[in-house]
Order: sequence, then C-alpha cells, then structure tokens
Amino acid sequence: MTELRIDPDLCAGHGRCFDVAPDLFAEDEEGYGTVTVPRPEGRQLADARLAGRSCPEQAVLLT
Ligand code: SF4
Repeated sequence: MTELRIDPDLCAGHGRCFDVAPDLFAEDEEGYGTVTVPRPEGRQLADARLAGRSCPEQAVLLT
C-alpha cells in the first residue's frame, strides 16, 4: 500500500501539486499543499508521481 504525504518542513507553498493533481491535493488556508487522498491507487498513483516530480522542493513523498 503506497502512502502519499507532504513533508511540511520542505513544502514552500508553490502549489504545483494541486495544480497538477487537484484530485489528490488541496491548498490549506496559508497556501501550502495538503494531501486529500493519502492512499492513492491506479491512475491516482501516476498522478501522485507526476505531482512529486513537479514539486520544486521534493516535498511530495510516496512511501
Ligand atoms: S508543489 Fe511542493 S512545495 Fe508546492 S505546495 Fe505542493 S508540496 Fe508544497
């Protein structure tokens, strides 16, 4: 089971994750990314990986 998280110490609030994968991420009240689907599957997993590659801070973690 793959877990999707954002490292809050690395996230700088660029917003690429929720631009690239709005079904998996959202924006908190301060503009930082949050995960809405912590256990992505199938197509969601591909989108999660794409979001990870798009994050300039490498704050999107798939474990
Ligand atoms: S793209 Fe990366 S740095 Fe930007 S909000 Fe998402 S997790 Fe944070």
